[in-house]
Amino acid sequence: MPIIPLFGHAGLRDRLAESALRGTLPSSLLVHGPRGIGKQRLALWLGSVLLCGSADAPCGECANCKLSFELAHPDLTWVFPRTRDDDGNDDSRDEVLGNIGQAVTERREANGLYAAPPGNAGIFIGATRALVREGGRRPAMAKRRVIVVGEADRMTQGGHEESANAFLKLLEEPPSFTTLILTSSEPGALLPTIRSRVVSVAARPLKDSDVQRFVEQPLVSARLDGMAAESTAARVRRAQGVPGALLNAADVAAARENAERILTAAGGDRAERYRAAFVQGATGARGAYSDTLDALVLLLRDRMEGALAKGDAHRADAAARAIPVVLETAEKAAGNAQPSLLTAQLMTALQEVSA
Ligand SMILES: [Zn+2]
Repeated sequence: MPIIPLFGHAGLRDRLAESALRGTLPSSLLVHGPRGIGKQRLALWLGSVLLCGSADAPCGECANCKLSFELAHPDLTWVFPRTRDDDGNDDSRDEVLGNIGQAVTERREANGLYAAPPGNAGIFIGATRALVREGGRRPAMAKRRVIVVGEADRMTQGGHEESANAFLKLLEEPPSFTTLILTSSEPGALLPTIRSRVVSVAARPLKDSDVQRFVEQPLVSARLDGMAAESTAARVRRAQGVPGALLNAADVAAARENAERILTAAGGDRAERYRAAFVQGATGARGAYSDTLDALVLLLRDRMEGALAKGDAHRADAAARAIPVVLETAEKAAGNAQPSLLTAQLMTALQEVSA
């Protein structure tokens, strides 16, 4: 069963396919843009283009296309953050590859429709070593070997740079037959040494018409119907150009809850504030933390509108002032700053809103 097709990104697709066809595609690419807009799906599509190699690639007819559409091509490796941290051992290379393959199988069985991995998931050292080895092997079937690294910034998960440094070896001297396609919604969190060696490509949220085609796709609508009964129009509205947001409903609820906890704690005493801040650090989860900050912005907007509706200008002002502070915090969080320290600083700005 193939994964669902790629929706949207028409202009970008044309440009990428054209340079792939002309042989001018850089050997290392970074596709960046908001979470949930289909960057990894786009990267896999580009992988199919490279493996197919025909003039109208991906033709969908050749053996290369059939295998890559089913995520079963021997020259296509897809690695993304996983919570299992049991592949740090170099003695178990086959086991690591098996674990990666199992994770890909799970995504294929879900037709390529998956929620974002939890914030504590990462691309740990064992997985990175495996993908470095794969990237160095000659293609088995197609003319090229393609390595897709989804959410590549998670190679520095938990502040460890070991994994990212191992990856650098491949990035510094990639074999002529290998194309590396990284994706990230937090490119600021990538090591500068990685960022400087990849050609950046910006992907944008989808047009509503593309989101509509996505939600109307039978496999997608069946999946969404299983989550909640909702009209197509409501789904398109809720997605706001981000189809992945529809698959992440549970994460959104958790982020909202966490944001509410921070806002409540900000009004408490010092001990309460530090406790709430410390919890953010303990999760060590960059992805989840940025979700929380997004949710916090929405929460502050709600508070601001609520205060305005009640004619409480003072409270509305406090909420309005806090929003840019949260956005600034989100920017720092995308870098290498610790969530716990950032939250402790943020609490001061939120104090007035919470009170
Ligand atoms: Zn083909």
